[in-house]
Amino acid sequence: MSIRRIYNFSAGPACLPLPVLIKVKEDFMEHGGMSIFEISHRSKGFMDICEDAKARISSLLGLDASFEVLFLAGGAAQQFAMVPMNLMDRAADYAVTGRWAKRAWEEAGNIGEARVAFSSEDSLFSRVPRPGEISLSEGTSYLHITSNNTAYGTQYREFPETGGVPLVADMSSDILSRRIDARRFGLIYASAQKNMGPAGVTVVIIRRDLLGRSYRKLPNIFRYKTHADAGSIYNTPPVFAIYMLRMIVQWIEGEGGVAEMEGRAKARADVVYGALGEDDFYELLADRESRSMMNVTFRLQSDALTERFLREARALGMEGLSGHRTVGGIRASMYDAFPLEGASALAEFIRRFRRTA
Ligand SMILES: *Cc1c(COP(=O)(O)O)cnc(C)c1O
Repeated sequence: MSIRRIYNFSAGPACLPLPVLIKVKEDFMEHGGMSIFEISHRSKGFMDICEDAKARISSLLGLDASFEVLFLAGGAAQQFAMVPMNLMDRAADYAVTGRWAKRAWEEAGNIGEARVAFSSEDSLFSRVPRPGEISLSEGTSYLHITSNNTAYGTQYREFPETGGVPLVADMSSDILSRRIDARRFGLIYASAQKNMGPAGVTVVIIRRDLLGRSYRKLPNIFRYKTHADAGSIYNTPPVFAIYMLRMIVQWIEGEGGVAEMEGRAKARADVVYGALGEDDFYELLADRESRSMMNVTFRLQSDALTERFLREARALGMEGLSGHRTVGGIRASMYDAFPLEGASALAEFIRRFRRTA
């Protein structure tokens, strides 16, 4: 079978591993006389898949039974609300490092007092805080950070120290892409459509003791405890998205786990930053110490040049390179499944474009 594959630099939904896509297609109808779309979420087959996916995520992150993995709907955007609903007493601290971080902070303001512990908005979100730059406020229930800022292309190298205050992270665009000490976090959430699967499912990893927090009356559906008690099938979960997520997590394991993903991410990013960084022709949007391995962002000197760059890249089979609609410029998103050859092709094009523009 010959399959035409472009280099898909889209920020999400994004490129997925080809072997997984082929297997899903082959197995589509082979679920006990049904297709994967038709199986019951309460069938043993699906419940086993769900539990297996949770166990693998937990193991890839080096977590033990003191953490609970949940599969929820509503995207990372719903977590912007669920985190403060469940974990904020009076106030919480937010590091505002990008568009999503800011939306998380704004949503928290609908629940209680959302404080800005750090903001890089003045420098167009060109960086994340340096170690020690965040000081926690009196009476904060947690510190919320965004580990990788998808629209601006910045990423934490080191996470803030918070002592006894729970650290909460939106890891939507870099979960399972590098080794981290996940045990330092009180809660991690990530929508799947960047590194882990198709859209439709959001992974929430919560330290079990936090499940008992209860500061306000909430509808059951918005309580983490409801979903933990029901094993993530309190309501009908996104069955197909979870099925795919599990296959992709298995694929990550099979390729060598998170350490291997990190090596690949670094190799891809080095190739692209290397091509960009030779003179002032390309303007990088992120400060050097904050540069993301997942999303590389830069600008050209005019809109006309940007248009031409995108057009010529497309002609070479490279798509999804326009920057976030609020940021402009170029953004190359390269998550776990993105091949190194794609990064090399982009790097070569970046060098050639500089010579011929
Ligand atoms: C994509 C993204 C989101 C939004 O996710 P939804 O699933 O659309 O709600 C939130 N945070 C980050 C860091 C993202 O990259």
